[in-house]
Amino acid sequence: MATAYDRDNIFAKILRGEIPCDRVYEDDHVLAFRDINPQAPVHVLVIPKGEYVSMDDFAESAGDAEIAAFVRAVGRVARELGLQDPGYRILANHGADSHQEVPHLHVHIFGGRPLGPMLVRT
Ligand code: 5GP
Repeated sequence: MATAYDRDNIFAKILRGEIPCDRVYEDDHVLAFRDINPQAPVHVLVIPKGEYVSMDDFAESAGDAEIAAFVRAVGRVARELGLQDPGYRILANHGADSHQEVPHLHVHIFGGRPLGPMLVRT
């Protein structure tokens, strides 16, 4: 069964304007802002404005306009940050094995330096 959306999660508070963020992009469906604890010189989070726990939830339940806006925003933000030529990485965590911390869908955009291997083997 799908996890219920928690309206007290930190990104819901950012979307309601209760907590500030360093915004880099916004449209009717999407907000993008810098991560508070950056893991690379550029580390931006792109989130849908709708209430979706993760990509699993979003892919299943979001409307086509929301999905199109979200995918286009990820590409647009990376391009506008000048990342498409040196390259960048996008990442979205879902659930416990991925260590997803915030239960509102977010895509991380990392860039600004060589990013190393995709995953560290443990
Ligand atoms: P996750 O592990 O869920 O994929 O990533 C959550 C991300 O949200 C982390 O990279 C973390 O630094 C970031 N984050 C957590 N709280 C805040 C906040 O209040 N503001 C911003 N801008 N980022 C946050």
